[in-house]
Amino acid sequence: MVKRVGVIGGGQLAWMMAAEAAKLDLELMVQTPSLDDPAVARLLGTHFVVQGAVDDVGATAEMASSCDVITFENEFVDLKALGHLAKLGHRFYPTLKSLKPLLDKYEQRQFLQEIGLPVPGFADLSAVGAALTHWENGDAVEFPVVVKTRRNGYDGQGTFVVRSPETLQEICEKLAHQPLLVEEFVPFVKELAAIATRSVSGDVAVYPIVETQQEDQVCRRVIAPAEISATARDRSMAIAQTLLEKLEGVGTYGIELFLTADDRVLVNEVAPRTHNSGHFTIETCVASQFEQHLRAVADLPLAPAKMTVPAAIMVNLLGFESVDFESTQPDSLKGGYGDRLNKICALPHTQVHWYGKMASRPGRKLAHVTLWAMESEEVPTLGDRAKQIEKIWYES
Ligand code: ADP
Repeated sequence: MVKRVGVIGGGQLAWMMAAEAAKLDLELMVQTPSLDDPAVARLLGTHFVVQGAVDDVGATAEMASSCDVITFENEFVDLKALGHLAKLGHRFYPTLKSLKPLLDKYEQRQFLQEIGLPVPGFADLSAVGAALTHWENGDAVEFPVVVKTRRNGYDGQGTFVVRSPETLQEICEKLAHQPLLVEEFVPFVKELAAIATRSVSGDVAVYPIVETQQEDQVCRRVIAPAEISATARDRSMAIAQTLLEKLEGVGTYGIELFLTADDRVLVNEVAPRTHNSGHFTIETCVASQFEQHLRAVADLPLAPAKMTVPAAIMVNLLGFESVDFESTQPDSLKGGYGDRLNKICALPHTQVHWYGKMASRPGRKLAHVTLWAMESEEVPTLGDRAKQIEKIWYES
């Protein structure tokens, strides 16, 4: 029986997971580079914390020695080194085998294509250089294209829209030191996400498909459920189901999708962990994505992935100025942050999650807010309520 779960990474995802562990009578331990990281405060001092970078396998070995299973809030790990720990008998969920095809964006595209899931046209830029004429499936390349660093990209860092062969040449030269993926620019009508969990025994639970809205390639808000056709919804659910079955993944996954004007759904990216687009589940579903993840990795039965309210919106609160905070507590906030947060906290049917980071900088995810409709008559006002929150946060 699993009593203690070790988590590689101690950011906001581990912080939210820590809030759910007690419900399931589980203890959590995190491996994180700084004792200022969000999850540490929630784990009562440093007793359940191993200080170390996420790819520090020595720190993982220390954590594994007192945990029943190791899981991930961050996929920027050293898989090969972790393999030695697995050989010694330490258990990882998701398994290292199921993580392998996902950690490099190019290999992930290849894997998705192999298992028959729809993806944008793509190529290994290191192989083709700027002489890009055809995608790997043989289709002719048209500009614009999107260049991505193959590893360790997040929040759009490492993603570039390129509009001409000349700019592609420049990008190739600038980023020559790292492997690159290039792919078709998808003129999507919406971006969607599927949050799905698979248990050790192979059950899969998929939450209602959501719409995610990005600005400058960073997620700004999530609308649950997405307003899409039944065809698009069924296609998205089926992609999530197939993916988790083929991967034999255990745990919660975030699957980012593009919806095209003709109702096709393409996979943009798979994150083998809980995901920003699943935060709405905390207040508005039978069990949150974090509870569901812990259930999966602790080999407990999954909960129904159902909403308990008709609709919700999650708004990310990104940093708008650089400030060093005095503590992790929201009531000690400096700069414009404190006043604005108080105003948002006072709104009805609204829950603020302040991650307790010690410093802000423009664009950094500092908190999120979930707002929801209790009755279906309230659903049409949700969009305006979300706009009001963003206005308070970014404009007051
Ligand atoms: P990250 O891993 O940093 O989140 P993504 O690959 O998810 O990066 O890209 C971030 C955003 O950039 C996406 O949410 C989308 O808005 C845009 N984007 C990425 N790839 C494409 C593409 N092929 N076509 C159009 N837009 C894209």
